[in-house]
Amino acid sequence: MNDNVLHSSYELGVQKVVSCLSTCIFPDKTTYPIDETMIHLGPPHSSNFGYSYAKRMIDVQNRAYHQQHGCKFTSVIPTNVFGPNDNFNIEDGHVLPGLIHKVYRAKETGTALSIWGTGKPRRQFIYSLDLARLFIWVLREYDEVDPIILSVGEEDEVSIKEAAESIVSAMDFKGEVIFDSTKSDGQFKKTASNGKLRKYLPDFKFTPFNQAVQETCDWFNANYSAARK
Ligand code: GDP
Repeated sequence: MNDNVLHSSYELGVQKVVSCLSTCIFPDKTTYPIDETMIHLGPPHSSNFGYSYAKRMIDVQNRAYHQQHGCKFTSVIPTNVFGPNDNFNIEDGHVLPGLIHKVYRAKETGTALSIWGTGKPRRQFIYSLDLARLFIWVLREYDEVDPIILSVGEEDEVSIKEAAESIVSAMDFKGEVIFDSTKSDGQFKKTASNGKLRKYLPDFKFTPFNQAVQETCDWFNANYSAARK
């Protein structure tokens, strides 16, 4: 995909390409917070090395196309995205949409909500509408080839337990909540710095987490039959 998209873009004279990387491509053994300069500084987590190296190559290719042909190809690194129209599948969706769907089911069947793992891992969640606004800014204004992390601040990182509590409140769930420690916690944290973004956009206002969770839950309740799940 990288080769085909970037080479076709070069051949067709596309003015700008913004590719999407991920915070899970960063080195496994690292210091925190992670920033844009650290992508290639050590092997990624073994659980997703193929994906990580492929994504890292986008950054290498962006530099090469710039050096050889002057192309404006760049990349962004979003943290965990959520919002309306997400994949709410319980087995293969990400944590927030998965838990929203689980709470919906638990309410319907009068059963407990089961949260995978200990609830202690920490994540920086970004609302899809905020991310969309930032993508448009990158497309129009961001002039570097180097990647930029699109994330809420380090102080806005929340534990899985806190994220689940926000959903329980937004869905008005009164049932029992249990932590299933037979399920994996995954990476404990991957705290990323949004310092570079903040230098460009010091006044950008992220939607408060609880409000974004409420809007996503409201969307799921209103669109249950059509939602991807
Ligand atoms: P990650 O950031 O790529 O690891 O993405 P996820 O969105 O899948 O988050 C995984 C974290 O949430 C892990 O700590 C899981 O143990 C925890 N978790 C708790 N309940 C769930 C759930 O119902 N679905 C998923 N996907 N993760 C859950």
